[in-house]
Amino acid sequence: MKNIYLDNAATTPLRPEVIHTMVDVLQHDYGNPSSTHSFGRSSKSILETSRKTIAKHLNCSAQEIIFTANATEGTNWILREMVKNNGIKKIITSKIEHHATLYTVLNLQKEFGVEVDYIKVLPNGNLDLFDFERKLSDEIPTLVTLMHVNNEIGTVIDLNKVSGICQKYNAIFHCDTVQSIGKIKIDLQETPLDFLVASAHKFHGPKGIGFAFIRKNRIMQPMLFGGEQEKGLRAGTEAIHQIAGMSKAFDLANEHLIEETEYISELKEYCNSKLQANFEGIIINGENTFYNILNVLLPFSEEKTAMILFNLDMKGIAVSRGSACQSGSIKPSHVLAEFLSEDNIKKPSLRISFSHYNTKEEIDVFIESLKTI
Ligand code: PLP
Repeated sequence: MKNIYLDNAATTPLRPEVIHTMVDVLQHDYGNPSSTHSFGRSSKSILETSRKTIAKHLNCSAQEIIFTANATEGTNWILREMVKNNGIKKIITSKIEHHATLYTVLNLQKEFGVEVDYIKVLPNGNLDLFDFERKLSDEIPTLVTLMHVNNEIGTVIDLNKVSGICQKYNAIFHCDTVQSIGKIKIDLQETPLDFLVASAHKFHGPKGIGFAFIRKNRIMQPMLFGGEQEKGLRAGTEAIHQIAGMSKAFDLANEHLIEETEYISELKEYCNSKLQANFEGIIINGENTFYNILNVLLPFSEEKTAMILFNLDMKGIAVSRGSACQSGSIKPSHVLAEFLSEDNIKKPSLRISFSHYNTKEEIDVFIESLKTI
């Protein structure tokens, strides 16, 4: 039995070239990048080349990229920093954000008394941008935090439009681009957002490494105190092999962006049409969704909800109910709860998320397996 991985929104397999790069760095470039001897200089050079590679693909300056452990860390740091030291009094977000954002915002509300307002979610899973604009005003220093692509249903916000609205009201815009970065072109000269965060493991890079883009006019206090690493903003010896792996993964993602987007879009369409043909009454959760995420409401009884993932797992097929961080939970998805009816929320929904490593044959096996449940 060959295992089938259709949970690429949770994490992605590493590209072989990324593993090669990381092993090479682990073997040969063990110098501390802060050391002044040749070993240190060699690691420092990898560090800065990696930063430049990432910045080049985003069309920003290398100084605007700060390496972090992951996107969660970046989001916590940025949002806290804006409220604690940059005078933010109001946060506008939505209830369908990842918990990395939602729980950070709730904690800031508790700790600093910052006002929080949630943008209305439409019945199709998209955000109501008219409601968004109504919530903004020039008078209150405001931060907007929204994800580019929703990790559970794949709905997308128009980055340029949202950035433009934020600019109009002088609001700071932090964007969680975890699900989109490396999968769609983002040009930071064209898109005037202030902050973005990313995790390498979502674009076929290693876990435990990510980065934050901090636009150069934004003044930040350190998230960690200690050495001078990352301009003194995040002290601690850098994980060079992780950073080199992330940079390689990002470079390859951008190099293959067009053909992989096309390939994955076709796979999603294939899976969708097969599901429609085999399961009468199936509903897609979310409209105008990103090309690698398909979230469907299956026309099965409530009792089957728990069984489905278990049965698929027994057959070696990995899909998910929603966010991986919550998959152990019996609570319904906080994202689907925002726009599905009470009846539908009890029924089984599945998130199927694709990468360029998947094939139509795998989708056929998945559909056949689902039919037996
Ligand atoms: N934001 C989104 C949209 C995600 O999908 C995830 C991970 O699933 C995160 C943030 C958190 O990423 P990490 O756990 O790598 O920090």
